[in-house]
Amino acid sequence: EKLLQNQVAVVTGAGSGIGKASAIKLAENGAKIALLDLHKENVEETKEKIEQLGSEAIAIEGNVSHPEEVANAYKQTVEKWGRVDIVFANAGINGEVTPIEDMEPDDWELTISNNLTSTFLTVKYAIPHLKTNGGSIIITSSINGNRVYKNFGMSAYSTSKIGQMGFGKMAALELAKYHIRVNMICPGSIETNIGENTWADKEKLKKVEIPVKYPEGGQPLEHKAGKPEQVADLVLFLASNQSNHITGSEIYIDGAESLL
Ligand code: NAD
Repeated sequence: EKLLQNQVAVVTGAGSGIGKASAIKLAENGAKIALLDLHKENVEETKEKIEQLGSEAIAIEGNVSHPEEVANAYKQTVEKWGRVDIVFANAGINGEVTPIEDMEPDDWELTISNNLTSTFLTVKYAIPHLKTNGGSIIITSSINGNRVYKNFGMSAYSTSKIGQMGFGKMAALELAKYHIRVNMICPGSIETNIGENTWADKEKLKKVEIPVKYPEGGQPLEHKAGKPEQVADLVLFLASNQSNHITGSEIYIDGAESLL
C-alpha cells in the first residue's frame, strides 16, 4: 500500500514550481489531488501527469485571496471525493520589488493578500473538512523574512512570509484538538517561475540595492539553487503519517543558504 493511499490533497499554486512538483509527488504516493491555480490551463499539464501515474486529479480555477473561490475549491473537492486529508497552502507571488518610500499601498496590499490573507483563507475553509478525520496542512513560507533579509525592496513579501509563520503556529495550537497538524516549510532559492518578472526591469531594480541575490556560487551544500522536486520530498513527509508528532514546526530547506 502506498503512503497516501485513499487520501485527498488540495494543492494551491499547483500550476508551477513547488506546487506542481509536490502535487505530482503526493499523487505518486497514492493521493488524489485537487489542483488549484489562477488559471485552469496552468494545471492541465500537472493533471495529465497525475493521471499518467494512475491517480486522479481535478483542475480548479481560483484565486486564493478570494474567500468564495477558496471555499468553492473545497466544495468541488468534497463533491468529487467526499473528503480532504492534506492541504498544501503554497500559492504565492514575489510582488513589487520597490523601496518602502516608493511602495504604493495597493502593491503592498496585493502581496499581503496573495501570500498571507490567502494562507488564512486556505486554512480556514479547510477546517470543516479536516476536523472529522484530522489531517495535515503545510504552508510554504520562505527563508526570506524569517532568516534572511537580503532581497531589498521585498518588504511586503518578507512581511507576508513571517506573517505566515505566526499564523501557522496559532493554527497548529487551535487545530490540535481536531488532530490537524500545521507546519511551515521555508525554502531557499528554488528554480521556479516566481522570479520571472521580478528581476526583469533592470532600470527599476537600480532603485533597490540588492546586496546579494544569491550567495556567490549558490548555497553551501550543492552550490546552486534547489529543485522543486527536493521541496516536494519534504512536503510528502509532512503530509504523511511519518511526521505524526510534528506540528507547529518550521523546516528550512535551503542547503544552509540562510546561514550565510
Ligand atoms: P511559481 O511562480 O513557479 O508558482 C506559483 C504558482 O502559484 C503559479 O502557478 C501561480 O499562478 C500560482 N498563484 C499565484 N498567486 C495565486 C493566487 N492568488 N491564487 C491562485 N494561484 C496563485 O512559484 P514557486 O516558487 O513555486 O512558489 C511557490 C511558493 O514558494 C510561494 O509561496 C513562494 O513564496 C514560495 N517560495 C519560493 C521560493 C523560490 O525560490 N522559488 C523560495 C522560498 C519560498
